[in-house]
Amino acid sequence: MAPTPTPDPPSAHLFILSAPSGAGKSTLGAALRRRFPQLGYSVSFTTRRPRGGEHNGVDYHFIDAAAFEAGITSGRWAEWAQVHGHYYGTSAEILQRYLTQGTSVLMDIDVQGAAQIVARFPAAVTIFIMPPSLAVLRQRLEGRGTDNPDVIATRMRNAASEMMAKDRYRHVIINDDLRKASAELIYLVDGYLRGEGG
Ligand code: ADP
Ligand code: 5GP
Repeated sequence: MAPTPTPDPPSAHLFILSAPSGAGKSTLGAALRRRFPQLGYSVSFTTRRPRGGEHNGVDYHFIDAAAFEAGITSGRWAEWAQVHGHYYGTSAEILQRYLTQGTSVLMDIDVQGAAQIVARFPAAVTIFIMPPSLAVLRQRLEGRGTDNPDVIATRMRNAASEMMAKDRYRHVIINDDLRKASAELIYLVDGYLRGEGG
């Protein structure tokens, strides 16, 4: 009798999390990575200054504008964008390494970057995190205590246009109650990792 063929393992997924700043994307992304330690994480490059508690190479690779712009010229970025007055980008090499290994990857990128990744990888799983309201978003930005009032004002100004992009995402999660939103995100990602779709 012929041996039962072993099914192919589900191929690697690209999970993209986007949200207006302060909606809870980093918090939810961290919960997801605790639950699925096998997920690769694409540590972005940015020209913004580190916040208190952030570590180079862990939260971001912090580089200067000249190095970032050299990367644009040399094709170093799988996607890049200017967000809130700073450059942010994903290393094409890091992303490719994960995908070649068959490792699913989590990306925390803005709506412009997400559109670039979807154009290259149409199967990317796009997830938009919504705050319950703009008033709550402001409270969270203020409560986080990491940004000065000018920075918060810029982020609030950009929030409305970022939120208009939510309809281009495959999934939308409202981060009102943190435990509920985490559970929803974990359930969603678990479905893809098991090969069942979302
Ligand atoms: P982002 O990465 O989207 O900018 P953060 O994850 O840093 O946002 O969250 C912004 C602030 O809001 C943090 O202080 C975080 O602890 C808090 N926060 C996140 N989700 C919730 C929630 N559901 N309820 C209350 N506070 C939250
Ligand atoms: P923050 O400064 O709050 O860490 O991030 C600001 C915004 O930049 C967020 O919307 C975040 O998702 C986005 N961002 C972080 N890394 C990248 C990246 O590599 N590419 C793009 N396009 N956006 C990014």
